[in-house]
Amino acid sequence: MYRREFFSYCLRAGLGLGFSGLFSLAYSSEALRTTKARATDRRRMVSTRIDTHGHTVSGLTADRVISLMDMSGISHMVLMARGRKNDALTTEIYKKHPQRILPFVSTMYPGWHRQDFRVLNRAERLLGTGIYKGVGEVMLRYYGIPSKNEPEINVPADSPFIRKLSDIVVRHNAVIIVLMEPEPEAIRSLENLLNYNKDLKLIWAHSGTVAKVQLYSIGHADIGELMDRHPNLYTDIAGVQPKSVAPSGGLRRPSITDDDGILLPRFKELLERHSDRVLFGLDTPWMQCWAEEPFKRWVEWADKVVAQLEDAGAAERIMYKNAARLFNI
Ligand SMILES: [Zn+2]
Repeated sequence: MYRREFFSYCLRAGLGLGFSGLFSLAYSSEALRTTKARATDRRRMVSTRIDTHGHTVSGLTADRVISLMDMSGISHMVLMARGRKNDALTTEIYKKHPQRILPFVSTMYPGWHRQDFRVLNRAERLLGTGIYKGVGEVMLRYYGIPSKNEPEINVPADSPFIRKLSDIVVRHNAVIIVLMEPEPEAIRSLENLLNYNKDLKLIWAHSGTVAKVQLYSIGHADIGELMDRHPNLYTDIAGVQPKSVAPSGGLRRPSITDDDGILLPRFKELLERHSDRVLFGLDTPWMQCWAEEPFKRWVEWADKVVAQLEDAGAAERIMYKNAARLFNI
């Protein structure tokens, strides 16, 4: 959706963005100041953002979601519930703002982690309602956070369970978002899945980064190389903000930038090489993520990230055009 179209969309949808809201739709002044040539900066202004990695958490309200989206110039947001019971909350928020919310069927509860096939029937039924746009966040390989009592998860991407899920997702023209620590065996199984189901649109979240716990033993994956081979493989810049901009930074993954928001070379290369399949997302799995301050800082951080890319069109692609194409917006 182009700038003018989004503005008229705002008017049609009665979003009531004031002057400051409209201003925030353009790239943040900080991002503008920090890039080199002003003439180039102008081309990098984008009109809106689509957050492809939001989470519904207990206590979240539609009002809070929409007011933070408006404040940050986010036109649409994917919502993936933490816990099966929060699917109802995702639906409730969607029903209040069907033009703005892209609901996903939740996969973040034990039935999915132990590969109970009954959850696939539920996913198929929910996708069949036409409300849900995808499933996720599917935890394929996850180390868990001991302080939060989370279990370690290992569900191979090429298991009969995930293969069947992929068939369901494709049948409903939906999208799947996965979290997978990039262990060699996990990557092999992901490639098997993508070869098995060439029509599957899959977002491997978090830019190929590995959780800090294994950072020094397996290192980040070269997800760009995988994306070369698999044209329906996407990734996002969610949950990879530096400690300086994330609340409770220890819960975040390693950042793709330094503390000043400057892209580390390997991730700059990834974003430039695959600017047509990298997506903007925040990752908001805890209630403290849904406060004004972190939200604002994360969006500014993302603006600054894409403002560093050489190709003037990359910022718009990553911030919303890729998602608009993926979700038929
Ligand atoms: Zn997430």
